[in-house]
Amino acid sequence: MSWISSILSGFEDVGEEVYEGMRFPGFAGNEGVKALLKSRPFSHAYILAGPEGSGKRTLARLIAAAMVCTGQGTAPCLSCIPCRKTMKGTHPDVIHAENGGKGLYVDQIRALRSDAYIRPNEAGRKIFIIHEAQEMNASAQNAMLRLLEDGPSYAAFFLLTDNVSALLPTVRSRCVELLLSPVSAEEAFFWLSERFPGRDEQEIRRTSVRCEGILGRAVMELEDKAQGEFDPLTQAADFVHRLAGGSELNLMEFAVSLEKYSRDELEAFLDAVGLLLRDGLICSMGGALEFERKRAAAAQEVAKNLTKQKIIGTIECIETLRRQCNYNLGAGHCAGRLAAACWEGIH
Ligand SMILES: [Zn+2]
Repeated sequence: MSWISSILSGFEDVGEEVYEGMRFPGFAGNEGVKALLKSRPFSHAYILAGPEGSGKRTLARLIAAAMVCTGQGTAPCLSCIPCRKTMKGTHPDVIHAENGGKGLYVDQIRALRSDAYIRPNEAGRKIFIIHEAQEMNASAQNAMLRLLEDGPSYAAFFLLTDNVSALLPTVRSRCVELLLSPVSAEEAFFWLSERFPGRDEQEIRRTSVRCEGILGRAVMELEDKAQGEFDPLTQAADFVHRLAGGSELNLMEFAVSLEKYSRDELEAFLDAVGLLLRDGLICSMGGALEFERKRAAAAQEVAKNLTKQKIIGTIECIETLRRQCNYNLGAGHCAGRLAAACWEGIH
């Protein structure tokens, strides 16, 4: 069954909002779902269905960001404060509801309902992203149904599920269904090459075939392989590539992946980033580079994409974080600040 034949009714205009389409930075494949979202005003209820690792969370964050975006141009801009908070999971009006994989209970849906009637804090909308929706039992789903039917007009609900048939037909009929499909091996290859720039091309190609179009699976495989063979220069080259490439989503995803590192590894990583940025500065001033290939390529990329002033600003930011690593910052905290500060520094 194609995705289009499974789209059910449930479109609703939200007030006087003028819909200007949306874009999908960093989200691979699924052209049908993208075309649907681009062509219609936002709905108050979506089901995002697809196997584990197919991008449900990423797409939910992008739609939520588009709904609260205050930037210019097609949303989500990923630069305005509401977009950044949504992507980082800190927007007070974009609420993730999960219950440790067990699905929400009816009491939790009732609590969510009370919350929905409290007006949004910062945005014009309040968005509830409900994870593992297939685990909700019938009474929880019926409580959810009532909320979908008569919730406040500013509220939006995203039900994420890997088994859409476990949802009641009445619930499904109130939602726009977005069925995520595996991406093609070619799309996976391009996406993974962008995400893991330091990796061997053949390895990326093999993984892009083996993952059967499920990018989350491919990311896990490549990240697992990277574990235990921590190489600060490879990691730093990856970071610098993302910084120069101008995708904040890519940068933040990388920052999240740093959280698993020890303090020592993070320090080595920050030192390597600082080194590459200095190389980039030399390169941008016309200096000769006699480094090995990976280091020279990273330096050239920095020189090509960032101004001298921005390189210097980012080096200063790295040095500050490096000092903070010496005392009380945890790796996760440090990684998050690194992405945010670098992004702000260059934009
Ligand atoms: Zn925005």
